[in-house]
Formats: sequence, structure tokens, C-alpha cells
Amino acid sequence: MTGVGAFELATASRIVFGEGKAREALPDLVRNRRVLLVTGTRGAPIAIEAAHHVRIAGEPTVDDARRAAAFAFPDVEMVVAIGGGSALDLGKAAAILIANGGDPLRHLEVIGDGRPFQQRSLPCVCVPTTAGTGSEVTRNAVLGSATHGVKASLRSPSMLPAVALVDPELTCDLPPALTASTGLDALTQLVEPFVSSKANAFVDAICRDAIPRVIAALPRAFAGDRTARADMAYASLCGGLALANAGLGAAHGFAGPIGGRFPAPHGAICAVLLPHVVAINRARTGDRKFEELAAMTGDLAAFVAQFDLPPLSAYGLTSADAPALVAQAKQASSMKANPVTLSDADLTEILSRAL
Ligand SMILES: [Zn+2]
Repeated sequence: MTGVGAFELATASRIVFGEGKAREALPDLVRNRRVLLVTGTRGAPIAIEAAHHVRIAGEPTVDDARRAAAFAFPDVEMVVAIGGGSALDLGKAAAILIANGGDPLRHLEVIGDGRPFQQRSLPCVCVPTTAGTGSEVTRNAVLGSATHGVKASLRSPSMLPAVALVDPELTCDLPPALTASTGLDALTQLVEPFVSSKANAFVDAICRDAIPRVIAALPRAFAGDRTARADMAYASLCGGLALANAGLGAAHGFAGPIGGRFPAPHGAICAVLLPHVVAINRARTGDRKFEELAAMTGDLAAFVAQFDLPPLSAYGLTSADAPALVAQAKQASSMKANPVTLSDADLTEILSRAL
């Protein structure tokens, strides 16, 4: 066993987890506050009183962030985001943009100016209704830009939500396809931090607990077993904690550029890349952690295959797209934590195996 080393754990100020907790805790959190509510198109599963309500269809864009951030303090004092990763990311983006004013492109990484925020974010309460992104405990928000054909993050320590309210009950009516793609995103967000170059003892402990839970629970949740939802909601939360503190890797490095240009759900992209990323990283590093990972996941390719996700070619991606996607993936912030610097040939190989 290696030494513990040094680490710092960043997380939401308060994490509340459990069946029925959303209904129990939300009314107190929003009492006498002017709330901007951000949800998906289906609205909030729990009635809350809000001064304004923004709905998001699909994954959030720079324009969505502009629209949500058009409200001003003190007309909005706090943001409550209830939904999948898209609603949570848009809520977090709105909370920091309202506090700072100005355009998202001034602060967006990679495609924007990447300027740091000067003001702390408004308090943001995040209530996930999918089990996958872990966005309720991360300090970034991913926005797509049609103009740039890529996704990039707003990022700030103060974007960590004030409260992460994780209630497995809210995920019970997720349809099978969404259960699979979001659940496999959660798995990717546990596997990549576990073997990342920035891994630490705390993150390792979280991943060692959560990875086997996904392996056991996701097929059951996919088949409609409600009792598997709590393990998935917990694993998703753990994935968010893991990625916020140990970074990600090549699967997420590709997910930004691919998701920016092709109409593929984020989790589905990560899932079809993950087995190939793990195989090539394992071959290039020889790190013993990959043996431990394999003992937890079993045959990762076979595990992913049972969910019948389409290959990347189903979204229109061809081998002709590889050079541009490899170049973009190398610039992605997620790629920095990949356990080893992969060559262009390795990255091209990963992509071609997932076509
Ligand atoms: Zn992800």
C-alpha cells in the first residue's frame, strides 16, 4: 500500500442524501428567498415557490446561460436547479453569472477568454433527478457553443453548490435508455478519477466503494428495479466528488469535442469510449491500479455492451473526423488528468474502436 500523501477535498457546503429528503428539506431552504428555479422541460417534481422559472431542453448552451443570467441580484437571491446534469449545470452557470454580470464567453475555458470570476456565486441548491453527472458536487458547468462546435466549462471554486440534495426517489421514473447513459457516465466518472494522474487516497476510497455498486446496481436499475436507484444516486454523487478532486481522462477529453459536434448524449459517448480508454491506458502505464480496477469491473467492454448503446458512427461520426477530434481532445481540460500522455496514434485508435 502506498502512502496517503497530501490532498484537499472540495465539495458542496452541505450534502443531504436519502429517500424523501428533497421533499423534506427544500421548503426550508427556499423560505423567504427570491428564487430562480432552473429545471428541465418536465419542470420540478416538487412544488416550490419561485420568482422566476427557466426551463432547459437538451444540454445547455452559451445562449441558454445568457438567458438564465439575464435576471439580476437582488431580484434573484438564490438558484434552485432541479433536473438532470443539464439543468444543474445551467443553474450553476446562472448563479455565478448573476453574481458577476457580464457575458459567459468572458469566462468560458477553451473557447472563451477564461477570465476568473471576481465575485462569489449566488447560493445554488442542486437537486439531481438523474443518477449520472454528479454535477451537484462539482465546481464547473459545461456549456455548448454551436458557433464553436465544442463544449467548454465555466469553472470557479465558488461554483460548488451550497447544497447538494440527492434524493434517489426522484430518479425512479427515469426510462431505461436514460438510466443506462447517465449511469454509465457515473461509472466513467468513477473509473477515470480512480486511475487519474491526480488520484488521492480519499478519492480512491470513494471509488473503491462506488464502482462495485454501479456494476451491481446499474443492470438492475436498467431493468426497472427501484431498489437499485439508491445505489446509483449514491454512486453518481461519488463520481462528482471523485472528478472534482482527481480530474478525469481521455474518455471525457473526447466527450467535449464529440458532444459539441454530434447529437450524442454525454453519457453514451463516455460509455462507448471507456473500455478502449482503459485498455490503452493500462497497456501504456502498467499501473497496478488497473488490475484492481479490472477486479472490480470484470470485463468492462461486456458490461457496457449489455446496455445496447449505439456506436459513435450512429451519430454521424466517421474516421475522417478523427484528426480534428484528436486535436480538440488534446486541448480539453479533462485530458490533463489522464494517467499517461497518449500519442495521436493512441487517441485515434481509441476513437476508431468506438466507431
Ligand atoms: Zn461525464
